[in-house]
Amino acid sequence: MIDRTGEPLLSLQNVSVHFEKERLLGLAGSETVHAVDDVSLDVYENDIVALVGESGCGKTTLGKTAIGVQRPTEGKVLYRGQDVWETKESSGWFGGGKSAGEYSSSEIRRSLQMIHQDPGSSLNSNYTVESSLADPLKHWQPEMSEADRRARIYGLLEYVGMAPAEDYANRYPHQLSGGEQQRVALIRSLLMNPDLILADEAVSALDVSLRAEMMDLMLELQDQFSTSYLYISHDLANAKHLTQRANGRIGIMYLGELVEIGTPEQIIHDPQHPYTKVLLWATSDLRNRSEGVSDPPIRSLDIPTPTDPPSGCRFHTRCPEAREACTKECPTLADHDGDGRRSACFRQQGNHEYWNSAPLAEGEPVEAGPATTSESAEGD
Ligand code: SF4
Repeated sequence: MIDRTGEPLLSLQNVSVHFEKERLLGLAGSETVHAVDDVSLDVYENDIVALVGESGCGKTTLGKTAIGVQRPTEGKVLYRGQDVWETKESSGWFGGGKSAGEYSSSEIRRSLQMIHQDPGSSLNSNYTVESSLADPLKHWQPEMSEADRRARIYGLLEYVGMAPAEDYANRYPHQLSGGEQQRVALIRSLLMNPDLILADEAVSALDVSLRAEMMDLMLELQDQFSTSYLYISHDLANAKHLTQRANGRIGIMYLGELVEIGTPEQIIHDPQHPYTKVLLWATSDLRNRSEGVSDPPIRSLDIPTPTDPPSGCRFHTRCPEAREACTKECPTLADHDGDGRRSACFRQQGNHEYWNSAPLAEGEPVEAGPATTSESAEGD
């Protein structure tokens, strides 16, 4: 059971990440990309949080900010209560300089690991599997004998189904399938004994038949290593699979903001935010749960640009429930029912002026569902 009452392992407090980017078409000057805006999120020991949203919603940027790879423009990232960026500045991210806090920057760096969508990017093509896996053990457990190191590596390879271990240990990354590469990348992260792993689209490059298997393996290894996952995905069905068994949470992001977060039961079976309903509609495995709606519950397929996000509620240009009030005021993420789920929509506030203001437009059905399958846009 996850204890969410004490100090979080990781706390993102009012985090914003803005980038300057050159204007296109030869226009002078730059414009600001609002990749993430004012997001607060706590992750606890042995927790799983899946962040889901369309391409360009800021979920990858938020994930990288959470593990200290991306510096927030505003707000703080705290590791066990200690400011990650103050630590980094006082002791250097790679250096062993003295930290002002209880944890050094290298301890924090070891504690917050990442596995990528493309495991090839985290495995050195010149190293055998055994060399790749021995590296973190040599660094973090230098007292371990070579025989013990080998036994640990072989044991883990067999645990994740790569047997006989001697055979796999001597292979190079190009001699492994995508699923095997991802297993090695996962083991490699876990050998650092991290407190949290950022898994960014970690299963989306695998065959559909292997995705559930890989997520189940992640959950098994979570039990063994007592780690937490921050899982980034455009696929609500995968997020459900990973979080449901582990008492995790699903967070929905739209245009740089966290618009709803709750248990998989709340998000999948009783979504509050209109954008969550769009994602459910767009997920074929879950669509039959979204009230039998045949047309996408959205007014426009066009996603506003993060360089010029809409005023008020950022979803108002696409929301079928939008009213005049939504163009003027930004709803805050709040627990409206006292059940732990937080959402950012005026429709959850019975006495808000929303209810007396005029609808923006009829909820005209659009012709196709929103694209939620690619993941490459800037600011993501
Ligand atoms: Fe839609 Fe208004 Fe709710 Fe935003 S606040 S999600 S525009 S109803």
